[in-house]
Amino acid sequence: MSKTWYPVIDYLNCCECGTCVTKCPHGVYDVEKAPSPVVKNPEACIAHCHGCGNLCPVGAITYVGEDTGWMPPNGSQADEEPCCSCGCEDVTNKTVVIDYLYLDLQSCDRCIVTDGVLDDVMMILTPALKLAGYEVVYNKTEIETEELARKYQFLSSPTIRVNGNDICQSVAENSCGCCSEISESDVECRVFEYNGETYEVPPKEMLAEAILRNVFGLSEHSCTCSDYELPENLETFFKGKKNTECSCGGNCC
Ligand code: SF4
Ligand code: SF4
Repeated sequence: MSKTWYPVIDYLNCCECGTCVTKCPHGVYDVEKAPSPVVKNPEACIAHCHGCGNLCPVGAITYVGEDTGWMPPNGSQADEEPCCSCGCEDVTNKTVVIDYLYLDLQSCDRCIVTDGVLDDVMMILTPALKLAGYEVVYNKTEIETEELARKYQFLSSPTIRVNGNDICQSVAENSCGCCSEISESDVECRVFEYNGETYEVPPKEMLAEAILRNVFGLSEHSCTCSDYELPENLETFFKGKKNTECSCGGNCC
């Protein structure tokens, strides 16, 4: 089945500032061709994400599958000013994409409880953001395989991203009994550091603050798309999980 959502570049207007390539944390663009925007992995694009399109200073990005009424916010400025200094930090981004990425929502307490806490926070923040004119997209993705981990450049479970930026500046983990049991190996999962304390489930205040800081541009962007490597810890998890799966493909039980 062909992919139904990915960016399309209007090369007549594009001024090759490279903002879109830098912005996308999902490896959709070919970073080796930067600053030219070459869509190398359209399958990796997140449905209904307008992250790169909202930052393009000349409105040169549209999307295959666009059905939300979204329009490039900056129009074509190609005739008005020579690009590019490129001002993307000043562009008003009116889309908020929250991604919740996890290993397991069936038996992993840490993923399950974090999922509930994030739901609660989103339930409160979404109406306020919409009132302020933002489009809010909330995605949940189970990282079932190594391939998906690479596709989403997944570093640790669970991960929460706001417009592609991990709410944690670094990866801190401790032993996770549930994921160790699933994979019959020693596996570590994420802990969240907030105000000098460490939590296995992030407090609501931490999530709300992280989301709002990202939305209003108070957080540093942490794009890691060019240097991703699957962490050994996750490799262990996926190998162990595969070994524990029944060879019938789940039809016998
Ligand atoms: S920033 Fe969002 S819309 Fe743009 S290519 Fe990446 S995932 Fe797709
Ligand atoms: S952000 Fe827009 S102008 Fe800049 S490289 Fe991407 S498509 Fe071209």
